Amino acid sequence: MRLAILDYGLFEIYANGRKIGIPGYYIENGERRILVDTGFHRDYLHDPMGVCVADGLGAFGRLIDYTPAQNPAAQLALFGIKPADITDLVLTHGHVDHVGRIDEFPQATFYVSAVERALPQPNYWNGKSRIAWPANRTMTIQEETQILPAISLFPTPGHTLGHLSIAITLPELGPVLLTADAISRPDELAENTYADADDPNMARVSAQLLRDRAVHDNAWLVYGHCPQQWQVLRRVPYWYR
Ligand SMILES: [Zn+2]
Repeated sequence: MRLAILDYGLFEIYANGRKIGIPGYYIENGERRILVDTGFHRDYLHDPMGVCVADGLGAFGRLIDYTPAQNPAAQLALFGIKPADITDLVLTHGHVDHVGRIDEFPQATFYVSAVERALPQPNYWNGKSRIAWPANRTMTIQEETQILPAISLFPTPGHTLGHLSIAITLPELGPVLLTADAISRPDELAENTYADADDPNMARVSAQLLRDRAVHDNAWLVYGHCPQQWQVLRRVPYWYR
């Protein structure tokens, strides 16, 4: 099994000037090709500011780097992989920067939390969803579930009520926890406010659970949007093994 970090662009948050990477993940496990999250909607490529405003992100921030190379198909192409080759598509949560291109993998088995899938549409941002749930074969996750050997999905609610994180075990690196936005950046653990979360108390519990699990398993924590870690993460075409 091997893991690649995909680059879906850079977003600036006005309130603090933070420039956050937008990640996706690609995991190969035997014959299975697993994509985690899909970045922004393709409309952002043509009119980033206009779509930001239309989606209710205008006062929050802006997409400062979103080239035609920063989407799942283009990132996977660096490995010679086509969207049709993806066997499994995992959505950590339905926010605008994760859900935008879930419609490009109709053949893949789709994994999403039962809580999020129960919503009429992905939660997107400020309730202004431009995305529908895909018609894929869908597996809804309610509790920690091993979906493939050495790959588990588990609920880490709070950031959104149905947020999922991912635990994998690589043959050389060992345990890895892809926290997604359950820990956006490690400073959140010290700040302990989780002010941006849908449920800050649940977010606090989930973040502490992830930290404790990382200590217990000696796991590498890959954060959702940590500017410092984004600088040092090795992205496609590098393989973590
Ligand atoms: Zn989010």
